[in-house]
Amino acid sequence: MILNDIAQLRQQLDTPLFAQLSQTADELGLPCYVVGGYVRDLLIGRATNDIDVVVVGSGIEMARHFAASLGRGAHLSVFKNFGTAQVKYREAEVEFVGARRESYNRNSRKPIVEDGTLQDDQNRRDFTINAMAICLNKDHFGDLLDPFGGLDDLKDGIIRTPLDPDITFSDDPLRMMRCVRFATQLRFLIEEETFEALGRNADRLQIVSGERIIVELNKIIESPQPSRGFVELHRSGLLEKILPELSALDIVETCHGRKHKNNFYHTLEVLDNVAERGGELWLRWAALLHDVGKTKSKRWDPAIGWTFHNHNFIGEKMVPGIFKRLKLPLDDRLKYVKKLVGLHMRPIAIADDEVTDSAVRRLLFDAGDDIDDLMLLCEADITSKNEVRKQNFLQNFKMVREKLVMIEEKDRIRNFQPPVDGTEIMKLFNIQPCRAIGEIKTALKDAILDGQVPNEHDAALAFVIEKGHTLGLNPVTD
Ligand code: ATP
Ligand code: MG
Repeated sequence: MILNDIAQLRQQLDTPLFAQLSQTADELGLPCYVVGGYVRDLLIGRATNDIDVVVVGSGIEMARHFAASLGRGAHLSVFKNFGTAQVKYREAEVEFVGARRESYNRNSRKPIVEDGTLQDDQNRRDFTINAMAICLNKDHFGDLLDPFGGLDDLKDGIIRTPLDPDITFSDDPLRMMRCVRFATQLRFLIEEETFEALGRNADRLQIVSGERIIVELNKIIESPQPSRGFVELHRSGLLEKILPELSALDIVETCHGRKHKNNFYHTLEVLDNVAERGGELWLRWAALLHDVGKTKSKRWDPAIGWTFHNHNFIGEKMVPGIFKRLKLPLDDRLKYVKKLVGLHMRPIAIADDEVTDSAVRRLLFDAGDDIDDLMLLCEADITSKNEVRKQNFLQNFKMVREKLVMIEEKDRIRNFQPPVDGTEIMKLFNIQPCRAIGEIKTALKDAILDGQVPNEHDAALAFVIEKGHTLGLNPVTD
């Protein structure tokens, strides 16, 4: 929804907060505007509480008076070094900044800042839809100042830089990531000249910190249809700079007339499927990386055709390097993504023929609490265009899921703790830590997972005694 006329826009601003802003600005005689993302979101009916205010003059002075006028309940923070201030009042966070003009140095995305006019301030903004301002002073309250046609672009669904895109992107290359991010979140198209400039300036990403890139990349991944962003990143050459492992999957080879599928577009389909099913950020990362091992594992086998043996394990090994390079967290989240990439072939393998209890128990044991996410990923991974084949797979997965529930109820494997542990084994045979204990523990775990021994203490103890016997160990009797 786009607000149709200025009257509607004024109505949206008819709140005590904006009235107070207006009054304060007039009292100080300062031209004052609400700008940027807040205006954009107001126009598309996406209300937010982050309000950016530009003052032609001192933003800090305006913030001080505004906070004072609100009295108790308003919380003021001043950032002298940046010339900005923030007022928190109820749910709203209002940022104040003086109108500024920026110039850039080639080696840094940090500008040299000087005081400027409103127009200077609009010129330095990244996209036309982010460069609109609404006047807050009484005489012109609610007037939209839109020098670059942002409102039309918002209506037409277009992302475009206000000035020459080569300059806008080269000045601050993070804007290239923001460009794709907004296009993805809003489902907008990137205007042609702007898009071409992405390609020409892709190298400039070098001067942007990994952390900033990741913030934008994660926003793309968390969008309703993330593939849109990845297609644009790839087509523009940006993806090659960020995740070359992924762009490398965009290849189709033919041997004796047989092609393998394009694993790049397959991956994006899987990612969208996971997003559609409500998968969270790290599950989406697992989807994104689930096939990265396919480049290294690809072989042509005359008997079978194209194969990607062990691509899941190769991919799993690649994940930590990718996380480190991209400044992604190296904690449980890395472990989780690694695990899912490594395990993503298992449910398919066990659903392929008869689904045995033992295979399901082992899957439960290896996946633990992440079993549901793994199953979701694997179902998302079925992108076959052959409807019969697809339904077959889904049917088999349904069986695996049913078995999973049944076996978990019966055997409680999900967070498996062996019913007889190392301490008890040492006591039983009166021995010190040694290799035999490890051997007995592994044999017990296998016997339980294979369904030869029930997951209970007494049955497990009997098995341990028997196994000890074969190793020449006898229980001490006292
Ligand atoms: P969101 O809050 O969804 O990230 P936003 O557009 O509000 O979107 P912010 O980072 O909050 O993004 O920035 C507020 C405004 O500041 C933007 O709308 C834009 O006008 C301007 N802006 C932010 N970052 C840049 C940048 N790197 N280059 C130019 N202008 C920018
Ligand atoms: Mg914002």
